[in-house]
Amino acid sequence: MPDHATPSLPTGLTISNIDIPTHDRVLRVVDSVSGLHALIGIHNQRRGPALGGIRFWPYADEDEALRDVLRLSRGMTAKSAALDLPWGGAKTVIIGDPKKLKSPALLRALAYAINSLGGHYIGGEDVNISVADIEVMRTITPHLVGSAEGCGDPAPYTAQGVFHGIRAAVSHRLGRDNLQGLRLAVQGAGAVSAILCRLLHREGAVISVCDLKEARAHHVAKQCGARVVPALAILETDADVLVPCALGGILDAQSIARLNVSVIAGPANNQLALAEDAESLHARNILYAPDYLINAGGLIAGIAEYEANRDRHSFDRAAAMAEVDLIYKRSSALFVEAQRLDLAPATLCDRTIASQIDSRPMKITISCCLSAIFTMPDLRGEW
Ligand code: NAD
Repeated sequence: MPDHATPSLPTGLTISNIDIPTHDRVLRVVDSVSGLHALIGIHNQRRGPALGGIRFWPYADEDEALRDVLRLSRGMTAKSAALDLPWGGAKTVIIGDPKKLKSPALLRALAYAINSLGGHYIGGEDVNISVADIEVMRTITPHLVGSAEGCGDPAPYTAQGVFHGIRAAVSHRLGRDNLQGLRLAVQGAGAVSAILCRLLHREGAVISVCDLKEARAHHVAKQCGARVVPALAILETDADVLVPCALGGILDAQSIARLNVSVIAGPANNQLALAEDAESLHARNILYAPDYLINAGGLIAGIAEYEANRDRHSFDRAAAMAEVDLIYKRSSALFVEAQRLDLAPATLCDRTIASQIDSRPMKITISCCLSAIFTMPDLRGEW
């Protein structure tokens, strides 16, 4: 479809459709004034409006950015569906070097495009988009979460959810109700990892950490009495739990064969190279906690902020954290049911997601939704 100017948009800003059969809508947003070139991928709105962060990245070209936005937006749908939340998945990617290209004018141009979607897409922080950037965009559109007066940076919520995912996995696989002396191998020492390692250290865990940027690993190590290990050695480290906090695609046939852990649970998105790798881990008796389930804390906080704005009350951080804490119960229920069926938890979760995406939207709040699921004595029908 040719580019066309939308009448209500500022001069220079054009929005055009890219036809992608797997996605509800993919939009190209170009602003000749600020240099904005972005793609908004709305994967699936069957269960509700689509929420997903805005990533600013120096992609080589639009094809690379398109692949990323399609993959990331699909991942957001999976995350909502894994928690049975009445939300769809989306993502925005801005093409270019944020250090050179980011400006208030560019952020405002994107905000106009988001506003034109009338609330079908809700944006938020992602890589290279900060709380301050969200504040700039909020001068144009209300369809954003992650504001300073709302949940802000999602990393603390993500870390909290992953912490509970690790606790649930350790309890299920190792029969331990505390983390005292538990050996953790942590890949990556960025924003989520730094907070997560503090939580784990407080519970007595013994941490080995690495990062390609060694200074980051040393910083986390200093805070948590951790040992710094070479980045190349982390996947072979002899430990109880591998905690991937860096990149996706790290678990493939070769790396799985070399692992020396009983549990894998961490925030990194898309840790499995292929969906089938979940069953290879299961065959090796390694419990893999699906990333999109245990790293959904930021999404839960974003939804809580959206609901607070909609209902005109202020964001309640403690209440949002309490929602995130429910990841423990959700993960535990998944592990128990997967064991009963002799399936990898990720395989079972994927099946659930497929049925959730096809189901009708439910207009209920996260708290109702999560508590309804968690209080069910038998989840067989749900999964
Ligand atoms: P970050 O960029 O702050 O940290 C990632 C760290 O990993 C960086 O310090 C980087 O140098 C390091 N790294 C990259 N490749 C590595 C390698 N091969 N070995 C060792 N270290 C390596 O990112 P973050 O916000 O902490 O997120 C971590 C992961 O969690 C990412 O996969 C992200 O997509 C995912 N995630 C984050 C959030 C959130 O709220 N920030 C939410 C959901 C999922």
